[in-house]
Amino acid sequence: MFSNLSDKLDKALHILKGHGKITEVNVADTLKEVRRALLDADVNFKIAKDFTTTVKEKAMGQNVLTSLQPGQLMVKLVKDELTELMGGEEVGINLSGTPTVILMSGLQGSGKTTFSGKLANFLKTKKGKKPLLVACDIYRPAAINQLHVVGDQIGVEVYSEPENKDAVAIAQNAIKHAKANGFNVVIVDTAGRLAIDEQMMNEIANVHKAITPHETLFVVDSMTGQDAVNTAKAFNDRLNFDGVILTKLDGDTRGGAALTIKSVVNKPIKFIGTGEKMEAIDIFYPSRMADRILG
Ligand code: GDP
Repeated sequence: MFSNLSDKLDKALHILKGHGKITEVNVADTLKEVRRALLDADVNFKIAKDFTTTVKEKAMGQNVLTSLQPGQLMVKLVKDELTELMGGEEVGINLSGTPTVILMSGLQGSGKTTFSGKLANFLKTKKGKKPLLVACDIYRPAAINQLHVVGDQIGVEVYSEPENKDAVAIAQNAIKHAKANGFNVVIVDTAGRLAIDEQMMNEIANVHKAITPHETLFVVDSMTGQDAVNTAKAFNDRLNFDGVILTKLDGDTRGGAALTIKSVVNKPIKFIGTGEKMEAIDIFYPSRMADRILG
């Protein structure tokens, strides 16, 4: 995860860690390297620039050069700023409502169906919930089957109406079914496309409006870098979602999506996907992620 970014930041900060006497020049050089590392990780120019400007201002404010351990202090400032960039505190999901209704959104291939299963499994095993998974893809029978396979794997019921071509009605019927049968969480998996298109957006916006979910989650493949950020913007404009799920962080992603999505859409990353298995789900803790990046 982020190995390239970690290596580059390590090299950048190495200058400071190694120096007995730290000068303004060392600090400036380090920040230049930090900025370069962020740009290489697919962080956009403005965010990378603001990042180093903030670290520099904080360093001056705390008189880094005359402090006892200037190198360590600089490393801490970079870590704190990385944490802030990724959202600061972790933000859990809202489990209010009986049932809690969770709507999943995102492009096809982002990992939406897999994550729906992971979340159901997490809520069942870690939170003692009784979730219902709902297959709302009215275009691809394979997607409905895929959700049934996932449901069987984790022992969670899957609601589907293969003959029904009305996604709104399916979602509403599923919620009725949940209420009648004692399910306390309903996770609605919707149809995605390979790219953003108006029909998909209208459909998910209609489902969103009809079922007023307690949580609308946007799932995105972290390997897609800045595209992930642009897709997030488009979905957020339509759905004003509550949180982001970053998938495929087990691959060697450069890091841009994780580092910039929060500042672009101002919505927290809530969970990450770290593999294809149902257990490969983690709550997203910005400070732990910053620790990991800085090694
Ligand atoms: P959907 O079209 O958005 O529902 O995406 P899927 O859930 O079908 O996932 C697309 C592919 O990505 C599948 O092969 C999944 O096994 C894989 N996948 C999903 N999440 C992860 C993850 O966190 N890590 C890895 N390595 N693969 C994942």
